[in-house]
Amino acid sequence: MVAGMSAWSWSLGRFFGIETRVHFTFVLVLAWAAYSAIAQGGTAVAAALAVLFMVAVFASVLLHEIGHALMARVFGVPTRRIVLSPLGGVAQLDGQVLRPREEFWVALAGPLVSFVLAGSLFTLAALTGAWSPTSFIGGLAWANLMIAAFNMLPAFPMDGGRVLRSVLASRVGLGRGTEIAAKVGRVAAVGMMIAGLFTSPMLFLIGAFVFVAAGAEARAVDGFLGRRSRDVGRAPGALFGRREDSRGERVVPDAIFGRQGGRLWPPRRKVVVVIDDRWN
Ligand SMILES: [Zn+2]
Repeated sequence: MVAGMSAWSWSLGRFFGIETRVHFTFVLVLAWAAYSAIAQGGTAVAAALAVLFMVAVFASVLLHEIGHALMARVFGVPTRRIVLSPLGGVAQLDGQVLRPREEFWVALAGPLVSFVLAGSLFTLAALTGAWSPTSFIGGLAWANLMIAAFNMLPAFPMDGGRVLRSVLASRVGLGRGTEIAAKVGRVAAVGMMIAGLFTSPMLFLIGAFVFVAAGAEARAVDGFLGRRSRDVGRAPGALFGRREDSRGERVVPDAIFGRQGGRLWPPRRKVVVVIDDRWN
């Protein structure tokens, strides 16, 4: 989903210094919003409001992604760019591996922003009496609540999947934690697909996408841990090491393995292949 997404996108400029792009299909979403408003017998004003509502929803998604990016910044991890598409937003972080505690907070930050937005908008709706999901403020409040709730589903690539993985990783390590989280994600995906069969084809498609994404995440971590890629040892900068050397000194910190500790060590290495009973 991430790959190639920035190719068909326009720059929106920078927010908090982070390059932000929007996928060109966003225009189709706006056109569709205007068309459906008019098709339902709406005026030009109604069409303009529908377009404005879509822009507000996208702004909400942008704030959600900025939440992820700023929390990552707290942990010293920069964000390369944020890309918004009709399928949702992605904050592309630099560097692949966050410590479990970092991943927990970075993944949670987006849905937290959406929950806070929903809460503020519901308060505003209560003050103005515009509760209905068909009103602008009420609708936007519901949209933010949906964004938060949907993203907290415990399935990759949703934030809930990452929260779950980080909690598991701090107990059983990154490899096993990802495996379990991917399995939970697949079960959730099958559930979505079955529910989609009876309700909406869109839900079925999302379920299928989540099912594939869960496997991709598991393979990425597997590759990172060097389990299935022996060639990785020949890559420049690769380091083979045990968790502890023969003198019992720590060679690679526990970070990658889900305990407390530092980042990749030594820091300049690109690949660390670890031989450890826990991982093989
Ligand atoms: Zn998110």
